[in-house]
Amino acid sequence: MAKKRLGQHFLSDPSILQRIVEAARLAPEDLVVEIGPGPGKLTRILAGTVRRVIAIELDEALCRTLWDEYAQAENVEVVYGDALEYPYEDLPEFKVVANIPYYITTPIIFRLLENKSAPLDMLRKVQGIPPVEKEGIPDFRTNRLKSMTLTIQKEVAERIVASPGGKDYGVLSIMVQYLGDPELNFVIPKQAFRPVPKVDSAVIYIRIRKQPAVHVHNEEQFFRIVRTAFSQRRKMLSNSLKNTGENVKKWLDRAEIEGFRRPETLSIGDFARLANTFEIS
Ligand code: SAM
Repeated sequence: MAKKRLGQHFLSDPSILQRIVEAARLAPEDLVVEIGPGPGKLTRILAGTVRRVIAIELDEALCRTLWDEYAQAENVEVVYGDALEYPYEDLPEFKVVANIPYYITTPIIFRLLENKSAPLDMLRKVQGIPPVEKEGIPDFRTNRLKSMTLTIQKEVAERIVASPGGKDYGVLSIMVQYLGDPELNFVIPKQAFRPVPKVDSAVIYIRIRKQPAVHVHNEEQFFRIVRTAFSQRRKMLSNSLKNTGENVKKWLDRAEIEGFRRPETLSIGDFARLANTFEIS
């Protein structure tokens, strides 16, 4: 019996599972973290494809079945626990492949994209997730994630890959595209899952950038400005940015952005220019 509160909607069509693994562009030497292996159908294909699989599952009964199945397997480690709490910072280079439980889609994405500097911590606060320890990690992120191949609600996938100009483009698009390079691979109709969920899903592949897509002097400020602009997405920037405390007209002039524009027309580069010309600290 599937547990609704754990977002259990299982896939079993071998051709769909194979397409997910192909979308992940895995190499034999890879370490893959699978979030929510469930009954383990995707896990089995991953275990036959890469050097090592760490599968993190919150349902103890499902873990027991997987522990039995992989008792002798040297390359599969089944971890009983919450994927939001897992110490990804301790892993060497890894890729994530997961059919993510719907109720934690964005927290999981932000947890994996965790950044050394502040902005994603701000989002963690909003989501009620405690910040992680960040000492001693050499590059700009706190973990060594290379890519994520995620099966998520189609509507969320469309928001993540959205370009400026459309209704799907917003804070989530900018957050993810700042640190990663997402592409929507294919749609999985809801009828492919058991039990059948309310909405269709899509598989997205996100390559993690070595450096953020744009240079910003202060990431916290950058994300604060993005969120403020989108908090009133129907308004012109000259209005929606008023409560930043800045002289908006002069600020927009410095950034060379017209005040009548609406936030969804601004590229990440435009937002970076806005953040880098903000003078009140
Ligand atoms: N991978 C399987 C598949 O594709 O058929 C199952 C996917 S199902 C959508 C999501 C799985 O994540 C379930 O097995 C659920 O128990 C597990 N899960 C839910 N919350 C979790 C959490 N916080 N951490 C780890 N696993 C979780």
